[in-house]
Amino acid sequence: MKNFSNYTDYDTKENLHFESKAVHGALGTEPLTGAVSMPVFQAATFRHPELGTTTGFAYSRLENPTRQELERTMAILEGGIKGFAFSSGQAANMAVFSLLNPGDHVILTDDIYGGTFRIIGDVFGKYGIEHTYVEMSDLNEVRAAIRPETKMFFVETPTNPMMKVADIAAIAEMAKAHGALTVVDNTFLTPYFQKPLELGADIVTHSSTKYLGGHNDTVSGIVVVKDNQEIADKIHVHIKSHGSQLAPLDSWLVLRGIKTLPVRMDRHNENAGKVAQWLRTQPKIRKVYYVGFEDHADYAVTKKQTTGYGGMISFTVDSFETVKKILKGVDMIMFAESLGGTETLITYPTTQTHEDTPKDVKEKLGITDCFLRMSVGIEHAEDIIADLDRAMNA
Ligand code: PLP
Repeated sequence: MKNFSNYTDYDTKENLHFESKAVHGALGTEPLTGAVSMPVFQAATFRHPELGTTTGFAYSRLENPTRQELERTMAILEGGIKGFAFSSGQAANMAVFSLLNPGDHVILTDDIYGGTFRIIGDVFGKYGIEHTYVEMSDLNEVRAAIRPETKMFFVETPTNPMMKVADIAAIAEMAKAHGALTVVDNTFLTPYFQKPLELGADIVTHSSTKYLGGHNDTVSGIVVVKDNQEIADKIHVHIKSHGSQLAPLDSWLVLRGIKTLPVRMDRHNENAGKVAQWLRTQPKIRKVYYVGFEDHADYAVTKKQTTGYGGMISFTVDSFETVKKILKGVDMIMFAESLGGTETLITYPTTQTHEDTPKDVKEKLGITDCFLRMSVGIEHAEDIIADLDRAMNA
């Protein structure tokens, strides 16, 4: 493999498999010293040799070598021309919605992550950007929501927390015919299992706090633009104006996480399948929401567009008493907000991730007082099941 001697040249490693691309990134090694792990360039500013010349770096809000390696690596893995690393998934989504102008309309997944719900309603609503929530797995409902001023389709799939699946290719085709952008929040499956840009989407976003970082130790976000330079330029102006870029150490943590993404995703996938099957056999469980079930309403779409089911499961239990018992009784599993890390976490969406979603909307979606979400980690599946069993049935 080529060793690069500067930061300008890098390799998209077209000939390598996803697993190898994840390990070797864009430059792979640091070009001047050969350091195998791209160092944390903890510098705010960069010295210039003389007037009119630069090393390619000026100020870390604009570019930083560690962040640049992460941004290029994510562009390679998602299959886009340009990646951007933000201080959170929220900041990444803020940048994407900033592409809209007053009077524009956006169509969104109805049970979208609560924070995205807050951005589009509370933050952008007052700037005259209108929105409609639809059940994205129902293409007729999506089509019926289109208005002349619809400029963006924002798809989260699978959804958080109801695990509904939207047909990315069909929605992207609809959007294209209307001259609108398709944005996919790929947080739950990552490009290891799902590649929205190959399916026709224009932009991918991530909370890389989750599977990309993978260790519950950094908050961060990613945007990758497929092929539209004008959009990439607008997002570049946004990130450098808002100052919402990811810090060097956090960029390094996400880069390190990405090296093991494929092996972690395989284990999350395997463990979640076992836990979901077990949950279904339990008398106190009323319903399990898991995209890997053959009788899941959107299973055919999942099989068509993904190569794995991920590590997320939601479920309803028989009573609020059982909810309290589980959340207090788990020992190895942690009752905590977030997902996608090595540790199994259990979350209570109604007062955590979806706190700001209005109660009637939550009830309609099924986010009730008896609803729980679990991010299945990479521990031994038997230990996860034993812990849940003891907490729920003791
Ligand atoms: N998108 C999804 C699907 C999420 O689950 C989250 C957070 O949970 C976000 C975006 C926001 O990301 P962050 O918490 O990194 O700001």
